[in-house]
Amino acid sequence: MELQERLDDVRSRVATAERKAGRPAGAAQLVAVSKTFDADFIRPVIAAGQRLFGENRVQESQSKWPALRAETPDIELHLIGPLQSNKAADAVALFDVIETVDREKIARALAAEMKLQGKAPRLYVQVNTGLEPQKAGIVPDETVAFVRLCREELGLTVEGLMCIPPADENPGPHFALLAKLARQCGLEKLSMGMSSDYEVAIGFGATSVRVGSAIFGSR
Ligand SMILES: *Cc1c(COP(=O)(O)O)cnc(C)c1O
Repeated sequence: MELQERLDDVRSRVATAERKAGRPAGAAQLVAVSKTFDADFIRPVIAAGQRLFGENRVQESQSKWPALRAETPDIELHLIGPLQSNKAADAVALFDVIETVDREKIARALAAEMKLQGKAPRLYVQVNTGLEPQKAGIVPDETVAFVRLCREELGLTVEGLMCIPPADENPGPHFALLAKLARQCGLEKLSMGMSSDYEVAIGFGATSVRVGSAIFGSR
């Protein structure tokens, strides 16, 4: 399939999954994950009308997105990869949404940078629903307290929760857990679902799905 066909296919599958779940059209936003692809691969996707993009590295994003944004100012850029404190300033400067707030140290660093720069990217807390030792994210049991700390102590506005289920497990229970934690936190946004499981995620209430290889091809 060509890029345009793949993008159309993903869009129609998103629409079908929304309908099947009894959710309104547009309830799940499509974030196109462009990591590892350079600007020449991304431009046709922008030309096809896509505006939400996800990247997992700050440095790689800095080399690609300022130029692409100069061409198309209404791009919305999401950071979906782990963030180190020493990159907090760059992340606040570049991204519209940071989906990987996962510990107090990074929350504090972001709060300080947001104040300094007078800029407030929207924030998601990443939850390690599978309790995987190698994976980033706050553990489920600490999520409510962590969101409260972000809000009450650090004055941050948290918009939603994000998760990456273990690769070798049925993702449904992980999506259900994320939705339950979001309700407990009083949050409405759920970033969940990737190329292999975004339709499932939409059934569990995803408000955005992060789709890379199904649009751009394998990395
Ligand atoms: C790479 C990545 C994706 C997209 O993965 P695909 O399987 O290519 O769709 C989604 N979310 C995160 C956090 C990623 O790192």
